[in-house]
Amino acid sequence: MSGVNEIRSTFLDFFEKNGHQKVVSAPLVPRNDPTLMFVNAGMVPFKNVFTGLEQRPYSTAASSQKCVRAGGKHNDLDNVGYTARHHTFFEMLGNFSFGDYFKERAIELAWTLITKEYGLPADRLLVTIYHDDEEAAGHWKKIAGLSDDRIIRIATSDNFWSMGDTGPCGPCSEIFFDHGEGIPGGPPGSPDEDGDRFIEIWNLVFMQFDQIEPGNRIPLPRPSIDTGMGLERISAVLQGVHDNYEIDLFRALIGASAQLTGVDPDGPQKASHKVIADHLRASAFLVADGVLPSNEGRGYVLRRIMRRAMRHAQLLGAQDPLMHRLVPALVREMGQAFPELVRAEALISETLKLEETRFRTTLSRGLGLLEDASAALGSGDVLAGETAFKLYDTYGFPLDLTQDALRQRGVGVDLEGFNAAMERQKAEARAAWSGSGEAADDQIWFRIRDELGATEFLGYETEQAEGAV
Ligand code: ATP
Ligand code: MG
Ligand code: MG
Ligand code: MG
Repeated sequence: MSGVNEIRSTFLDFFEKNGHQKVVSAPLVPRNDPTLMFVNAGMVPFKNVFTGLEQRPYSTAASSQKCVRAGGKHNDLDNVGYTARHHTFFEMLGNFSFGDYFKERAIELAWTLITKEYGLPADRLLVTIYHDDEEAAGHWKKIAGLSDDRIIRIATSDNFWSMGDTGPCGPCSEIFFDHGEGIPGGPPGSPDEDGDRFIEIWNLVFMQFDQIEPGNRIPLPRPSIDTGMGLERISAVLQGVHDNYEIDLFRALIGASAQLTGVDPDGPQKASHKVIADHLRASAFLVADGVLPSNEGRGYVLRRIMRRAMRHAQLLGAQDPLMHRLVPALVREMGQAFPELVRAEALISETLKLEETRFRTTLSRGLGLLEDASAALGSGDVLAGETAFKLYDTYGFPLDLTQDALRQRGVGVDLEGFNAAMERQKAEARAAWSGSGEAADDQIWFRIRDELGATEFLGYETEQAEGAV
């Protein structure tokens, strides 16, 4: 059985063998797109190559790109711990053609990789296509020998990709793996498609048109290919497990968290272990790429991720800061593939430790308040917005942490009340503002970063961003 590290190499080697340039993952903070919070797909670093704004010395490439989906258009934060297939941080394996090969070759490469190199049984695979994409249907029949009932036509935007309101766009085709009858969920396009039986593993995007303006689309002179396959999902399939959190990499991280807390990794508190392992990866990679916890923007997304994990550490009964003690396990598992983790190890540990030390002083008191305020609430009720705001403002609870804490009991939060309390406080703060300058609170992060050294922004313009993997 192959481990995650070999599965990644097999992918990259296969595409290299087939003429693709191996490209190392770009940092999580996008350098070419100020509107995007984090890189959330493998194609993001290649956006300008697809549109022709940037030239590269190769016309086909393959990468395993670090992605974070914890805010903005793609936000999987609330899925973590609840589905078998979502992470906040994951690796997206991808092959790309910049005006080189198109649909037929893309399908042929994908099918060869998964059925020959990876050896998956064809009868467990099915695909979706955009409903009117006859060309794709034809290739799937010819290349993979799939019958019509295994080529599912989807008419929604799920199978039509676009970069924005204008620019490159086109139909896509996704490959699903059937994990078997024992797991609830229906095939794609069916009413219960959100279950975890049929898991989407690979998305092949056929960039075929240029959307010039709404309603006006012309064929691209040189159609392109963008694909994305979740490394953790294909690893689960290849390792014969259903849940991403059971692959070797997550077993190791969850094992470390189980050892330090003494809580059974397969017992009723399993979900907390999963959240901790997932959020550890997201936090560590974000810090390694230069993001530090703060109260706004990217830094606040990181803080939310860290604090959610810390609540789960508390739920597992950790008496002292836990997260930083898991860093060595992560570096052991992923440091070879991502040397930035090794370089930033001290910074990652210190950042986690300081954040957790500070948050723990208010975490248990906040949880106590939350418990009291919600004791009488049951499924369908909402917590008062004022209370959620007090937890946020006085106890440092990000709103989603409060929501996550109440979710199991089916209790929501009065968002209007929360926002109103926030607005009121901002108005009062503006009225009282005396021009004191930057918040002293956040300065400490910059000091730590200066002391321990950050690794990120160096790589951008240098060859590191594009050397061999
Ligand atoms: P899903 O429908 O399962 O949420 P998606 O359609 O949002 O996935 P894409 O945007 O098509 O995903 O991304 C390409 C591939 O990346 C997916 O087919 C999947 O293998 C992987 N992927 C997407 N989101 C995640 C995630 N949060 N965690 C792990 N892998 C993911
Ligand atoms: Mg999704
Ligand atoms: Mg999908
Ligand atoms: Mg998809």
